[in-house]
Amino acid sequence: MRRVQEVLEGLPATTVWQEELYKDLHAHPELSSQEARTSGEVARRLESFGYAVQRVGGGVVGVLANGDGPTVLTRADMDALPVTERTGLPYASTRTTVDPTGATVGVMHACGHDVHVACLLGAAELLAARPQAWRGTFVALFQPAEETAAGARAMLEDGLTERIPRPDVALGQHVLDHAAGVVGTQAGPVLSAGDSIRITVVGKGSHGSMPHLGVDPVVLAASIVLRLQTIVSREVRPGEFAVVTVGSIVAGSTSNTIPDRAVLLVNLRTYDPAVRQTVVDAVERIVRAECAAAGAPEPPTFEYYDQFPLTDNDAEVTATVTEAFRAHFGRDRVTELGRATASEDFSRVPDAFGTPYTYWGIGGFPPDRPGPPNHSPTFAPVVQPTLSTGTEALVVAAMAYLGKDER
Ligand code: ZN
Ligand code: ZN
Repeated sequence: MRRVQEVLEGLPATTVWQEELYKDLHAHPELSSQEARTSGEVARRLESFGYAVQRVGGGVVGVLANGDGPTVLTRADMDALPVTERTGLPYASTRTTVDPTGATVGVMHACGHDVHVACLLGAAELLAARPQAWRGTFVALFQPAEETAAGARAMLEDGLTERIPRPDVALGQHVLDHAAGVVGTQAGPVLSAGDSIRITVVGKGSHGSMPHLGVDPVVLAASIVLRLQTIVSREVRPGEFAVVTVGSIVAGSTSNTIPDRAVLLVNLRTYDPAVRQTVVDAVERIVRAECAAAGAPEPPTFEYYDQFPLTDNDAEVTATVTEAFRAHFGRDRVTELGRATASEDFSRVPDAFGTPYTYWGIGGFPPDRPGPPNHSPTFAPVVQPTLSTGTEALVVAAMAYLGKDER
């Protein structure tokens, strides 16, 4: 613990620029895969702390080699969401963008990735400023496009595994609607695997007054939506976790025309690969069978996108980090996170290296006033103790490995 305290001696000074940077990032959110300003800021600061900085697949990686010892990778995501901010904060975002339907929407850090960036940069500075307190290699990875599940993959496709040392352990965190100052850990599956499917069913267009001459894809889609509800209730073993949601149906545009196709957007969440396969097989079987039942002239098509891997925390790493958190924060500030139905692409990078990992939650809201869920237009974490807790958590978890050997 002595060595952790040595690194954290610099926190008051770090906090000064960190709070300013956080508000600046919050006011200047960037959508997934468009994080130019944010990644520029990250790279500039990492360089000023003395890191070897590389741009990889739209992200930024800083490597600080400090003698023999373990390599610890820490990760923050940088992207914001197409959400119009309604927090009323003095540093609220006023940015807008045009969404795929042509509508103008706001851009907002509604998932707190600005917190993640500020905390990891703070931890990066603290470790760089106290090299005598630890030994090994610290890797600070800032990834783009978490919300679209594209960012980690983009960094891997740009050769990440060849360009940085193989980490012995990987660490990630997320700010949540819990009380600020509290961290939550969880061994095993913690975030679900997520799949989105664009399903196109083909009918036969006709005049609305002559349904007998067409095949109505609206009725077909309605039948599919209802039948899909039986997957979780009738096919998945009771007690196993699965979610099937139809988030969008688009077909036709006027009352007197039977359209020739319908497009359904379906979202799946699972914790177990076997359950996931059961659900995927059931969705495809039901849609094909309903198309056949309707007399569809063509089979349906299935396009999988926004696929998130399972986040499955390593038991040993989670135990080590939880113990370090308890020693630093005190037992009452360390809770069990529990499983969330949300998804993340964090695990792609450690999985590509075969590296064990843990991913924890930090609170961001006053204890007496629980926050709105992530992605809400009113998601406004309190600046402190959110930033200091997230920064300390990264330092404490990294130092559980880097500060181990007394010299
Ligand atoms: Zn999010
Ligand atoms: Zn997020």
